[in-house]
Amino acid sequence: MSSDLERIQALQGGTRRWYYISEERFVTATTVFIPFGCPDWGAPGGVRKPQLCPFCNLPDAAIDYQRKFYGGPIPLKEHVRLFRLTLQAALESAPGTHTLNIFNAGSFLYMPFELQEEVVRAVREMADVRRLVIESRANFINPERVDPLLEFLETVALTIRVGVETKEHHLRTKVLPKGQSVEQLVAAGACMRQRGVTSGGYVLLKPAPGLNCHEAIAEAKATIEWVVGSENDSLGMDEAYFCAACVPPKGRLFEAWQAGTFQPATLSMVLEVIRFAAERFGRRVHLLPFTDVPPFVAIPSNQVAQAIPEDLTGAPGSDLAFHAVFEKYRQTMDKAVLVAPAE
Ligand code: SF4
Repeated sequence: MSSDLERIQALQGGTRRWYYISEERFVTATTVFIPFGCPDWGAPGGVRKPQLCPFCNLPDAAIDYQRKFYGGPIPLKEHVRLFRLTLQAALESAPGTHTLNIFNAGSFLYMPFELQEEVVRAVREMADVRRLVIESRANFINPERVDPLLEFLETVALTIRVGVETKEHHLRTKVLPKGQSVEQLVAAGACMRQRGVTSGGYVLLKPAPGLNCHEAIAEAKATIEWVVGSENDSLGMDEAYFCAACVPPKGRLFEAWQAGTFQPATLSMVLEVIRFAAERFGRRVHLLPFTDVPPFVAIPSNQVAQAIPEDLTGAPGSDLAFHAVFEKYRQTMDKAVLVAPAE
């Protein structure tokens, strides 16, 4: 019989230093997970779904959690109880938390409103945070779902992150396939802008097999431009969260990696894109860590063709130096540190 302690530990995503654009300073951001999963694509019961986004391990991770600790789906009341316990533990270990990330392995706005309401109630009662960050697919970001949430949040500011991943339509809708149309993304951006909600889009470098180095770099740069740029056809979001697509321990991207048909982008490719982003958009583009729960089996390397595991086991010294540069950038958001180490 598993204890609450084990269940809660698995739902704490830790604390990180985060650049807060609204106040142009670094703040403490703490992450808490709700193991709700991703029934966003219409899976019955909300726990089983085909893995539609091959780079994403979140639905499987939520299902594994549900099976391990509950033998199946978790009742809503238990989600609320778990969330309260997890939030309390997370805040105790991260005093001074400014920003609370609540990630549910799918769209926060897709969860039953009753659960959203209870979660926000817990945040308001238990946490003195300034900002709440959630994730959602674009098609759920509409006045019907966002307005009631804002009402409950009162003075707590809201950020909604959207998995844009790539600008290229065929790649985004057919290869990945995220299933988010341009119209849905534009409408979501407008909905957030009109309500003062901070908006952000995830951007992935080399998100699928079949892209060569030059195509992948050009695609990632164009996507960053599209997400945070101010051209007429851009999404005009406030922030972008950039990362290379890394390989989770199962799913379609993992199978492609095992078959030798996919390798994550190299460290040099990541550097080229984040330098471009930092030059053009400053601190509005974050470089996310190459980490996940459960850990990635392959993350960017310059030296190892099949890439290296998340814990950097077996990484040559020059890869370690490169990763140290990226970590320094995450800690400082100072573009001057974005210099390739000697190989
Ligand atoms: S990327 Fe988002 S929509 Fe796709 S499987 Fe993961 S959680 Fe679900």
